[in-house]
Amino acid sequence: MTVLRIDHQCPQCGAPAALEETDRLFACPFCRVRSVLTARDCFRYVLPAKSPAGKQLIYAPYWRFKGFLLFSLPAGVEHTYVDVNQLGIDMQSLPPSLGLRAQAMKLRFAAPDMEGRFLPPSASFTQTFAAFQQRFGRGRGSGAIASAHLGDAIGLLYSPLYASSGRLVDAVVEQPIGAVPDGFETAAAAAGKPDGGVGFLPALCPACGWDLEGEREALVMGCGNCGSSWAPAAGALTRVDCDCLSGDEQGALYLPFWRTSCAVSGMQLETYADLVRAANLPKRVQPEFESRRFEFWSPAFRIKANVYLRLAQGLSLIQPQEPLRPGRPPGRHHPATLPADEAAKTLKVILSAMIRPAQRLAETLPAVDIRAQGHRLAYLPFREDRHDYIQPHTRIAINKNMLALSRSL
Ligand SMILES: [Zn+2]
Ligand SMILES: [Zn+2]
Repeated sequence: MTVLRIDHQCPQCGAPAALEETDRLFACPFCRVRSVLTARDCFRYVLPAKSPAGKQLIYAPYWRFKGFLLFSLPAGVEHTYVDVNQLGIDMQSLPPSLGLRAQAMKLRFAAPDMEGRFLPPSASFTQTFAAFQQRFGRGRGSGAIASAHLGDAIGLLYSPLYASSGRLVDAVVEQPIGAVPDGFETAAAAAGKPDGGVGFLPALCPACGWDLEGEREALVMGCGNCGSSWAPAAGALTRVDCDCLSGDEQGALYLPFWRTSCAVSGMQLETYADLVRAANLPKRVQPEFESRRFEFWSPAFRIKANVYLRLAQGLSLIQPQEPLRPGRPPGRHHPATLPADEAAKTLKVILSAMIRPAQRLAETLPAVDIRAQGHRLAYLPFREDRHDYIQPHTRIAINKNMLALSRSL
C-alpha cells in the first residue's frame, strides 16, 4: 500500500526529516527531541510546484481517503479497499482527481506562512465521502442498511496552479490544462492561507512531565512514570482512560480495544440480556444479565476490515467479564492507531453483524441510532502460538501475519 511521504523540518533544531502520513510521534534523529503531531481536524499537505519562482501560485484542494468502506447488506457485511482523492471545489476544467500523483512525490505540510493562495474546499469531507461511497458502493444496489469507513488516512491535498496568458497551468508538471475557468480569478483573489496547519506538541506527560512512550504511528501514548495515557485531539493532548487485563500471561502481547458505551434508540440494547435476545444467542437469560450493561468492543488498531469486524463482533458478543485494572499493559503491546471517534462510526455495522436472524436486519436496523457516550481503552493479553495470537479467556484469535501486515496498511 502506498503511503504519502512528507518532507519536514524538526521544529526544535531545524534538521530535515522525512515523515510518513501515518506518523504521530516524531523523534528527531539529530537533537533527539520528540514531538506529537496534531491537526485541528485533518492533516493538510502541499504538492510541490516544479519551478515556483516568480509565479503567483493558487492551490486547489483535493480530499483524500485511503481505507476500507463497509456496507451492511441483508446478506452480510461487505467491504472494499479504496485509495482515492477528489477535487473539493466546484470548478470546471480543474482535474477532478490527482490520481496517484501525490504518492510519487515528497509533500510538505501546508502552513500559514507558505507563499501562494489556498482555495478553501467548498465541499466538506463528509459530502465528498458520501460521493466515494456512492461510487464504490455500486453493484451492492441501494440495499446497504448501514455504512461506515475505516480510514488509514484522511487528509486534504493542495495542488498548485497558476494562470498565464489566459491558460491555467498545472504547476506540479508545468503543463497547461486548459483555459482559465470562469470564477477562477475571483476565487483566487479571495483565497487565503490554509485553514489550520500541523502542530507539534512536546511528547511529555501533561500530568507529570515525564517522556511519553509510543511507536511512531501510535495514537495513544503512555507515561512510564505516572501510568497515564494520552492521545492528541484538536491540537492538545487529552487523557485516555485505559485498563488492562493482567494475569500470569508471561510474554503475552497486549492488543488494544475500545470499549464504547452507547445510548441506542430504535431497538432495545442496554444490557447483556438485551444482546442475548437481539443476537438470538443460544443461552437462557439469567437474572444478572438484566443488570449487566452492554458495551461495544472494537479493535483500537488498524487491521483489514474482515478481521476488524470478526474481532469486534466476537468480543461484543462475549462481553468479557474478566476484571480489568486501570493502567497500561505490563508487557509488550501493539500500538493503538485507530481513534475512538472513528471506531464509534462503525458501531452500527458491527451491530448489523450481530443481529440474528439476519432477516430481521432490514426491518430493524434502519430505525436504529447509536450514540457513543463514553469510551475506555482495554488492553487484552494474547498468547503467541505458531500462526496466531490467541486471547486465552475468550479464545479469540488473530493471525500473526495479519497483525504484522496491519502496520503497512
Ligand atoms: Zn531536531
Ligand atoms: Zn506522567
